[in-house]
Amino acid sequence: MRKTCSCITRNCTGKSYKKTVNYHQFSSQQESRHREENQRTNNCRLKTERRALNFFNRQFSINNRQSTIDNQMKRLSILGSTGSVGRNVLRVVDQFPERFSVAALAAGRNVGLLAEQVMRFTPEVAVVLNEDLAGQLKRMVMGARRLEILHGLDGYRAAATLTSADLVVSAMVGSAGLLPTMAAIEAGKSVALANKESLVMAGELVMGTARKKGVSIIPVDSEHSAIFQCLAGHRRQDLEQIILTASGGPFLDKSTEDLDGITPETALCHPTWKMGPKITIDSATLMNKGLEVIEAKWLFDLPLELIQVMIHPESVIHSMVVYRDGSVIAQLGLPDMRAPIAYALSYPERLPLGLPVPDFVDIGSLTFRELDLAKFPCLALALEACRIGETMPAVLSAANEVAVYAFLNHRIGLRRIGEAVQQVMSRHEPVSDPGLSDILEAAAWARRTAEEVARLPSPPTVYSLGASEPGNGGQV
Ligand code: MG
Repeated sequence: MRKTCSCITRNCTGKSYKKTVNYHQFSSQQESRHREENQRTNNCRLKTERRALNFFNRQFSINNRQSTIDNQMKRLSILGSTGSVGRNVLRVVDQFPERFSVAALAAGRNVGLLAEQVMRFTPEVAVVLNEDLAGQLKRMVMGARRLEILHGLDGYRAAATLTSADLVVSAMVGSAGLLPTMAAIEAGKSVALANKESLVMAGELVMGTARKKGVSIIPVDSEHSAIFQCLAGHRRQDLEQIILTASGGPFLDKSTEDLDGITPETALCHPTWKMGPKITIDSATLMNKGLEVIEAKWLFDLPLELIQVMIHPESVIHSMVVYRDGSVIAQLGLPDMRAPIAYALSYPERLPLGLPVPDFVDIGSLTFRELDLAKFPCLALALEACRIGETMPAVLSAANEVAVYAFLNHRIGLRRIGEAVQQVMSRHEPVSDPGLSDILEAAAWARRTAEEVARLPSPPTVYSLGASEPGNGGQV
């Protein structure tokens, strides 16, 4: 019988060659020697390939343990599940049921949607804003098995620290997200962070605690996810600058005077992203970009001078990193929050989301513009608060929340948002080296002062520490 062995062999230097051997020409001794030799070269090939893979993974800060963990089922605790980000997280969970399951769902007042989510994703814990809403939810989900219904700050903290949760998605709206996010980090949970106010208000504390606890904080915000992706495999000392892109919002081409006649209904139509109301207004005033600059500063540990903002109306380039050899690395994609969300959930793996790729011929050109800080004073105020530091960013964020809700309730005009924030900031005496209680106190003071300054009614509160309603909107 003709016995052959056809093998592609590679030596230790990586050079490969193909050889076909007819065993019938061999004696049995030769044959076994050949098989041993083949085994050795195969082992050698495997070693070379493993070395190459290890090198690649080291380059991209990925270790094999992490890769293995990421291939396993992950249980998620989703804070803000009825908001725009929360709903998109659940779309990703729905698409990959073999990879993700839901341990906890936390929302604000949207009990109807939360009840639907509970029935579909069967979490162990569901959290709402208060006792009344918890009672409503209980009646709506009578059939749900082994479900614990909690409410208020203690409930959000319980969802954030749930033993069975592998990853906490922090997607509550506004300053309400800070304490649950801190609780998750303190409990050693990895966090997929969409709540930018956590870093705006208490960036140093949040990142310091994360470092101490060895907790990964993976950005969900599309710009920060882009920077995170562009930094992969590069040395920190080679970085020269990061460029955050901004769509410019719906009023990019309007004159300053035209902004006076803008209604909340017009402002809620964002040209490229479909999001919750608070962040859509923040995008229209460019306060959102200012908050994102502060978020980037803490997330990537960068001085403010290295962060540039550029208007890019098409929102195809989600952000860029400039290196010292003059190379610029950008992350591109069509605006769809499922992409940065899925990356945060499955990092370092990329899931086959089936999203369309940009048709560059169809897009034709990508354009960029300089910022007009005079037209968008909210961005200038955010940069100023970032420069001052201490408790000023918390004051900026809290005053802005009050002013945005006032605008949404038709109580003030769009341009008054920036004026109110500026007035509150000018009255604040920053507290140096602030702890969490100093930050929460400053935010509560800012809310009271903003109401006083603009003669505004109080926006909805979550708990008595100066926070706003969670889960009723979304963010990018
Ligand atoms: Mg964003």
